[in-house]
Amino acid sequence: DVLGGLVGSEMCIRDRAEAAEIMDLDPAVHELLRWPLREFHVTLPVKMDDGTTQVFHGFRVQYNDARGPTKGGLRFHPDETIDTVRALAAWMTWKTAVVDIPLGGGKGGIICNPKEMSMGELERLSRAYIRAIGHYIGEETDVPAPDVYTTPQIMAWMMDEYAAMRGYNVPGMITGKPLPLGGSEGRGDATARGGMYTIREAAKILGIDLANATVAIQGYGNAGQFAHQLVAELFGSKVVAVSDSKGGVYDEHGLDFDKVMEWKQQEGTVATYECCEGTKKVSNEELLELDVDILIPAALENQIGPWNAAKITAKIVAELANGPTTPEADDILHENGVYVIPDFLCNAGGVTVSYFEQVQNAYDFYWEIEEVHEKLDRKMTAAFHAVHDAIQQYKVNTRMGAYIVSVARVAEAMSLRGWV
Ligand code: GLU
Repeated sequence: DVLGGLVGSEMCIRDRAEAAEIMDLDPAVHELLRWPLREFHVTLPVKMDDGTTQVFHGFRVQYNDARGPTKGGLRFHPDETIDTVRALAAWMTWKTAVVDIPLGGGKGGIICNPKEMSMGELERLSRAYIRAIGHYIGEETDVPAPDVYTTPQIMAWMMDEYAAMRGYNVPGMITGKPLPLGGSEGRGDATARGGMYTIREAAKILGIDLANATVAIQGYGNAGQFAHQLVAELFGSKVVAVSDSKGGVYDEHGLDFDKVMEWKQQEGTVATYECCEGTKKVSNEELLELDVDILIPAALENQIGPWNAAKITAKIVAELANGPTTPEADDILHENGVYVIPDFLCNAGGVTVSYFEQVQNAYDFYWEIEEVHEKLDRKMTAAFHAVHDAIQQYKVNTRMGAYIVSVARVAEAMSLRGWV
């Protein structure tokens, strides 16, 4: 199986296989869902500031387009591999299906360390990537977006390079753009906000009072930062711990978003944050095991495994990251009664507002932020309850419930097209 190389993706294979069995899927449908439809490997020579040329490697995987153009982010990471990108492209297929938007799943990545590159070098790398794959992507075929270490500025350079290739501007070929270039209101915090709507619905079902809940957040990138802000703003919950790649900080009295954010901007990390007596350092590992009501992994994959799953005492694990929980850990959490809001449901808000961005680009008319929030809430709430209904109907864990909803939708599209 092409996904075999990645621990996180084993879950994908195992769960999809189990979902196929539970749903009594046609074997041809299952076989088709095991493979990406297309993938591109590109080599990118880039002039560096010191005058040398560095050769980078990039990927784009178009996993499944039965429901619409493939859609998904682009990661800039030193440890990027084609296996990871494939697994994430498969997850995008389930993600767009679970929120029922007319898109398929794709993902891209470039092996690079953006933290060690200048703006000029990043711009030349971004443009080189589009020159290499520009003929194979587009608003009707495959639409990239931001992901780990990629930003609205990077999307802007890519859109500009693509416009140069086509000879006219095509804003809908990429999403997560800056507002003046056809970005959508509400795209910035969409991943975290969408996750909040699913937390709200889960809390209703579990009878958790969010106004008195404590929260720990692992990761302080786009998803983690906005999760900190929104969990306090929307619910009044207390965020007692946050972390980033350098480590974390804990305060039982709660961590103020504005102060932590200011610290992060000045110091480059939350790990050294100090405000008052009682603020303690915690490692990323310790943060996951804190005695909190809601745990939000918002960093990278494979953070909760058999080594720590039994020590997790949170009532809800809301997976804003992609693939933070391994398959073995998933079983342990389920047995211990931890309610996991699975990644491709919990973090689908980003791609949902990306879809809204494309719609606005297509008719060149832009919505107010309230309209974006309302439409996002409706999509996320409907998705959460479709999954919850499947959990009840099939008596399965939350992730399996989400797979059943998504796989059924993709399978139906493939069947209606006459592929199987
Ligand atoms: N990178 C985000 C994700 O993993 C967003 C993808 C998109 O907006 O297309 O869902």
